[in-house]
Amino acid sequence: MAKTIITAALTGAITPRGYQVPETPEQIAQEAYECWKAGASIVHLHMRDDQGMGVMDPVKFYETIRLIRAHEDCDVIINCTSSGGPGLDGTRSTQSRLEHFQKIPDIEVGSFDAGTFNWGIPGGIFSNSPTFLTTLGGLYQERGIKPEFEVFDLGMIRAVGVYWKKGVVKAPLHFQLCLGVVGGMDTTPREVQEMLTEIEHLQATGNLPREVTWSAFGIGKGHLPVMFSALANGGHIRVGMEDNVMYSKGVLADCNAQFVERAVRVSREFGREIATPDEAREILGLKK
Ligand code: ZN
Repeated sequence: MAKTIITAALTGAITPRGYQVPETPEQIAQEAYECWKAGASIVHLHMRDDQGMGVMDPVKFYETIRLIRAHEDCDVIINCTSSGGPGLDGTRSTQSRLEHFQKIPDIEVGSFDAGTFNWGIPGGIFSNSPTFLTTLGGLYQERGIKPEFEVFDLGMIRAVGVYWKKGVVKAPLHFQLCLGVVGGMDTTPREVQEMLTEIEHLQATGNLPREVTWSAFGIGKGHLPVMFSALANGGHIRVGMEDNVMYSKGVLADCNAQFVERAVRVSREFGREIATPDEAREILGLKK
């Protein structure tokens, strides 16, 4: 069976303070290193300001990546968000979402949120206009950064196919199925299956390429059913405090690596070994 790529999403933009969420570049880099040692081949990075709010700060991204790479043995794949600060309802400039990708070498993967929707109730609009996504896709091609298509609903999968057909993004394509946001899909095995059925349908009709890989995560208590569904369906998995802070019912997680350790255990118990970063590069078709 194919090896499992584990992504650790360490911080996120909106997980509240008061849990063990790493916030500073030093804390995030340390957790990234520990997750890599535990078996994560990709770390997905967001930054926080001094008040603990999500911020798109290229200096903080740069410093975090520098500190991760200060561990000479650490070859973890760096995946940065393109959405993580205030103004994601479209009031913030496109430039603030692109700058770290333009300036920092060594970012191999970047998020590409394939549509606009209401994020929670209450909550804002998560705005990803076609203009923004076209610019983002062009920048990723120019910089050799692989887009990770974060899809929260079925229609977003189809939208990715349209960007592919227009040449905004190139195959092979990698999806991150993001389940459990109010405004998107629920977190049962059925929803995972529906998304996979949609991918297969679009491939069969020539609206997605054959070369597709995918990973999935569920938010909050949905993290376990989605993780097990993804493993059973041959997909890759994402864990971490961006998505969930409870290790189990009523038990707060101590750190991100705890989630990675469990993901490694259950994947091996299932009969799937864990991909190293270089194996993940091979699977995803990353340029070294
Ligand atoms: Zn994220």
